[in-house]
Amino acid sequence: MQGDLLTTLIDEKKIQDRVSEIAKELGKKFESAKEPPIFICVLKGASFFYADLIKAFPHDCKCDFMGCSSYGSGTSSSGEVKVTYDLSMSIKGKDVVLVEDIVDTGYTLNFLNKFLQTREPKSVTTVSLLHKPEAKKIDYELDIKGFDIGNEFVVGYGLDFNNFYRHLPEISILTNTQLN
Ligand code: 5GP
Repeated sequence: MQGDLLTTLIDEKKIQDRVSEIAKELGKKFESAKEPPIFICVLKGASFFYADLIKAFPHDCKCDFMGCSSYGSGTSSSGEVKVTYDLSMSIKGKDVVLVEDIVDTGYTLNFLNKFLQTREPKSVTTVSLLHKPEAKKIDYELDIKGFDIGNEFVVGYGLDFNNFYRHLPEISILTNTQLN
């Protein structure tokens, strides 16, 4: 977009290497599970990470999708989260892996974790590719994170700004004249 400056923060190789490590870690966690875990993708931002993660996961798994929106201005979260697209299968008594793109304030992860718990799963493992520790505003349980990053606004590898930049294979810091 006009006026945007993109600076690479995490290149494609680093992302792919870390995704493989996370898939291995999850593989170990579920190697003796009696039933395949259900991997839940939080649309749309986690979709690229999710696809690569389940391809690298070394066991059977089931796939489902959720949509949620957090209210707030363009690049900041207000803390109000709403489910916009619900799961298509029951997770009662099942192992669930919740796959997020980024944890910023923590409101979304906190909300989704509580939301899933009401469906009585056997376990919920939370995974996020990116984590902004300095932006934390609420307690949340994040079991596996790909990378800690600073408070910059990032795009690429599924993450967007106004639906642009999701297609980029690397993660970049966005400096947008309209953001500043
Ligand atoms: P939280 O509820 O933790 O504040 O925010 C989570 C959601 O905010 C993410 O799923 C994502 O949609 C959005 N978000 C937070 N930080 C960023 C960022 O740096 N880049 C992009 N593209 N989205 C972000």
